[in-house]
Amino acid sequence: MARPRIRIPYTDLFPPPRPVPRTASSLPGAVAALHEFLLSPPPRDRNLPGGTVVLTGAGLSVASGLSDYRGDRGTYRTNKSYRPIYYHEFLASHEARKRYWARSFLGWGALRHAGPNAGHRAVRDLAAMGLVGRVVTQNVDSFHARAHPELPTLELHGYLRSVVCVTCRREMAREAMQAELARLNPPWDEFLRRAVAEEGEGAHAIRTNPDGDAEVPGAPYTTFRYPACPTCLRDPPPGIAAVVEVDGDGAWSPTSNAGILKPAVVMFGENIADHVKLAADEAIDGAGRLLVLATSLATYSAWRLVKRAKDRGMPIAVVNLGGVRGEDAFFAGLDPHQTGAQGVRVDMSTDVVLPALVRELQRNPFRRPLVADVDGGRERGTTG
Ligand SMILES: [Zn+2]
Repeated sequence: MARPRIRIPYTDLFPPPRPVPRTASSLPGAVAALHEFLLSPPPRDRNLPGGTVVLTGAGLSVASGLSDYRGDRGTYRTNKSYRPIYYHEFLASHEARKRYWARSFLGWGALRHAGPNAGHRAVRDLAAMGLVGRVVTQNVDSFHARAHPELPTLELHGYLRSVVCVTCRREMAREAMQAELARLNPPWDEFLRRAVAEEGEGAHAIRTNPDGDAEVPGAPYTTFRYPACPTCLRDPPPGIAAVVEVDGDGAWSPTSNAGILKPAVVMFGENIADHVKLAADEAIDGAGRLLVLATSLATYSAWRLVKRAKDRGMPIAVVNLGGVRGEDAFFAGLDPHQTGAQGVRVDMSTDVVLPALVRELQRNPFRRPLVADVDGGRERGTTG
């Protein structure tokens, strides 16, 4: 039963998006539908709580200068042959780790200098209006936490701001790791300093993937060195035949079998921790609506949350430029005349739609009563 917890990329093409309702094909139509979606009471035949949970993906950070994994045809955007490293490769191969940390070393500066964009700030504003109570994100860039520290955010796939030892599970700040990588790899540090001096430390100096790594064609990855876990090096874990050895400069030696540092992200092929999976389920179950932003739901761990919301009878809205995995099923069975309360599908970029939605809600924070609601005596106006 490993499948539901594992992070795996999905490589099939997605069906072309169909706007729901049909008026959501224009920006004013999309804003009107989402406005109604957020302010409608939960369906009366289900015993659902109020409030909206938001699920986000890599597309939300594109406007921050990070590239998306996928184009609208489901192919990888930056490089068609790009394939992220898998967890089992990272654990098994010293060479694979050298390559990973070299690319991560080059990509870190761009990620560190990037920040939240209008899409993240719109989520913050929706929360301030009482319309969003929780965020679940697949992104590992920590931009949600920076944009809205007071709104709880569950990082489904971990975070790049720390590295973690696979033996003792202790974390270390990624910034400290960067300093160690620079110290252990002077020629790489020199290369990076030159690139930054020539092109600036913006997100475009060296193209960075959402997982914070960068590709430099022809780079001699086999020369790269990375540190061992300082805790395991000082106090090798008792009870197991753990060997942690380093060279004269402190770089992890292939004579070791422990003390390997990895990014504190859930790598492709790695299981999501049980407590994170449970917290994600609780985030869905604790809301009456699900707003999906800027993700094609390529990973099963995200797709299954939307499936869970659908199975619970929660209205679902999806704002994503391009097709979404299995989306037809999420909008099956809706009243063809509904105008947003039961579901919304918008094929536009979040950094266009969300700020427009926030402006509309600030102008008009109350919902127009719908005929269908009048006989039920349910709550009116805003729901929280
Ligand atoms: Zn350790």
